[in-house]
Amino acid sequence: MSKIKVAELFYSIQGEGRFMGVPSVFLRTFGCNFKCAGFGMPRGELSTEADNVDPALYKEYKSLPLVSTGCDSYASWDPRFKHLSPLLSTDAIADAIVDTLPYKEWKDEHLVITGGEPLLGWQRAYPDLLNNVKMSGLKEITFETNGTQPLSPEFKKYLQEWSRWHHREITFSVSAKLPCSGERWEDAICPEIVVEYEDVGTAYLKFVIATEQDFADAECAIAAYRSAGFKGHVYLMPVGGVESVYTLNNRAVAVMAMKAGLRYSDRLQVPLFKNEWGT
Ligand code: SF4
Repeated sequence: MSKIKVAELFYSIQGEGRFMGVPSVFLRTFGCNFKCAGFGMPRGELSTEADNVDPALYKEYKSLPLVSTGCDSYASWDPRFKHLSPLLSTDAIADAIVDTLPYKEWKDEHLVITGGEPLLGWQRAYPDLLNNVKMSGLKEITFETNGTQPLSPEFKKYLQEWSRWHHREITFSVSAKLPCSGERWEDAICPEIVVEYEDVGTAYLKFVIATEQDFADAECAIAAYRSAGFKGHVYLMPVGGVESVYTLNNRAVAVMAMKAGLRYSDRLQVPLFKNEWGT
């Protein structure tokens, strides 16, 4: 049986993108190919905020401090925190997922597989998880990805077959990283990979925006995705893993989205739950 290193597993509502407000189980896998230390920082500078969190002081995700700069889910990929993320069998994960559901069986809830970057090596384990009998009532999955990881041929075929059954739906919520993340354009903007996700399900792009410069970068990225054949919707979302930063940006980003004829995504987990771990 396959195993997955699980950073967090919790029930909440989807706060972002196409399914905002939908009750969802979040499976946050451990590991990411990026660090995104540029978020919330002056351009060209990288945050060291999470570096100052001492892993020895924390025994569970819920007690970890929030950060206002850099990646807000830093503990889901930083090796210093890997002791908080157990390696669980797919059977144990299926049991835990269904246990979080209000009726202990699937109704209208979605499964959100997030990270870190959930399309790294764990692609090999997801078929075992989804084949578990407890997952048979699941109808909708979203992969929250940074859009840099191609689907393996085996996993792509598996997902195509999975979605053919009973009109199940697969969505790729692609949070492509602009230069404000601190990641390099050539590493982060991978249009051909995202276009391939559209062979499997619905894909949409979600850009985190703080400034007019970020918006200009998003427009360049959108042009690159479109010229590669990307057909999906595009969302602009305000930067801000903490409420003080989010409320400085949300209205301005909504106005930018309106002017450009793009979609606006909120981050409902920030005003509703203060973006605490496990929400
Ligand atoms: S891609 Fe996402 S999880 Fe990975 S470092 Fe960037 S913001 Fe964090």
